Amino acid sequence: MRNFQYFQPTEIRFGAGRLDEVGESVARLGRRCLIVTVPAFPGFELVVQRVKTSLTASAVAFAHFDGVIPNPTTAVVSAGASQAQDFGADVVLGVGGGSSLDTAKAVAVEARHPGTSWDYLFFRDRQPTEQTLPIVAVTTTSGTGSHVTQVAVVTNPDERSKSALYHPRLFPKISLVDPELVLTAPARVTAATGFDVFAHAFESFINPGGSAYTDLLASEALKIVASSLPAAVRSGHDLGARTAMAWADTLAGLAIANAGVTLPHGISMAVGGLYPHVAHGEALASVYPAILRYSWDAAPGKFAATARLFDRSLVGIEDAAAAEALSGAVMAFLRTIGLRIGLEDLKIPEGELKALAREALVLPDYKSHPRVACAEDVFSVLRESLRCEGETKS
Ligand code: NAD
Repeated sequence: MRNFQYFQPTEIRFGAGRLDEVGESVARLGRRCLIVTVPAFPGFELVVQRVKTSLTASAVAFAHFDGVIPNPTTAVVSAGASQAQDFGADVVLGVGGGSSLDTAKAVAVEARHPGTSWDYLFFRDRQPTEQTLPIVAVTTTSGTGSHVTQVAVVTNPDERSKSALYHPRLFPKISLVDPELVLTAPARVTAATGFDVFAHAFESFINPGGSAYTDLLASEALKIVASSLPAAVRSGHDLGARTAMAWADTLAGLAIANAGVTLPHGISMAVGGLYPHVAHGEALASVYPAILRYSWDAAPGKFAATARLFDRSLVGIEDAAAAEALSGAVMAFLRTIGLRIGLEDLKIPEGELKALAREALVLPDYKSHPRVACAEDVFSVLRESLRCEGETKS
């Protein structure tokens, strides 16, 4: 077995009803809490109310920043950071999907450092210091794994770029994973975020930077996605399926925090930067089949093992054939969850694919893909991903 290291400082509190522990969790870290969420919508108001009641019961004062948008921007983070400063927050609580959690993390940095969150991206000289506010995460999607990662994804509309802060200080100190909170997620959000779980697990699994430890986490997450995501999409109120997906999301997040992602995430980050209206999981769904076709023979054992989880008829079939079949199995799975889409469905213009291909190689993720792509390769993948020809969408 190869040498490896594994780091995970987040205290995870998992299970239905754990939301009510938010007050005592936050109180361990501070007395003045900035709550970070999207604007209120039916169903979510009750969650925010429970959070506020719990904070009050634990004698934690709070202010509420409710300006998060999907694919949060630098301006959104700055607005949250300035509210944190005005309030004198000593702890930040993100409640929501990856967009809210990432905003909370970036706010925790910007509120306590000169400049903006964009000045602290993973490749900059300046990095988050011990001044960074402690972060508590309550996740409501399954999901990005952000509740157990050191990553905060931020979009800069002026530069048409989506990038990330990446630092161990961004691991939430405490993470509450309460599957009941995901019951209200609509089918499309469930499918897109659930496919993100697949992507995290698969990309950690095939990542040369992975280990025996992350393989264990990732392969379990893949198994759960194959068996439980369709049920979660079909019946949003199935708490069993929601709990399974919350666990898969957590496992896949733990895996990416230590192994990292690969080419599909590089492409989907570029899509998000250029076209912020596109949901992260939808961008992934549109390009995955072509990427799998492009690279199956670079890691046939792992592609085959994944294919057999999604298509039981491939059990007993030799690795090369099963690996090649993974793209078809994933397309069938995407149809099952109503997410078999092309870039055209996401309103991405064909004329901009060259620029998109170049952008996809700005982040280093592609270097960890088993087959390392050049801009021409990515362009071909994107062209193949434009439309789902001859297929009936579910
Ligand atoms: P999101 O947070 O953008 O939420 C999507 C939509 O679903 C929003 O409108 C939100 O209000 C709504 N929603 C969330 N939970 C809901 C619920 N329980 N009921 C009803 N509606 C609900 O989606 P996401 O996919 O969780 O996060 C995407 C963001 O996370 C992107 O910016 C992506 O790049 C980033 N990301 C971060 C990491 C990381 O490790 N930090 C990893 C992957 C992706």
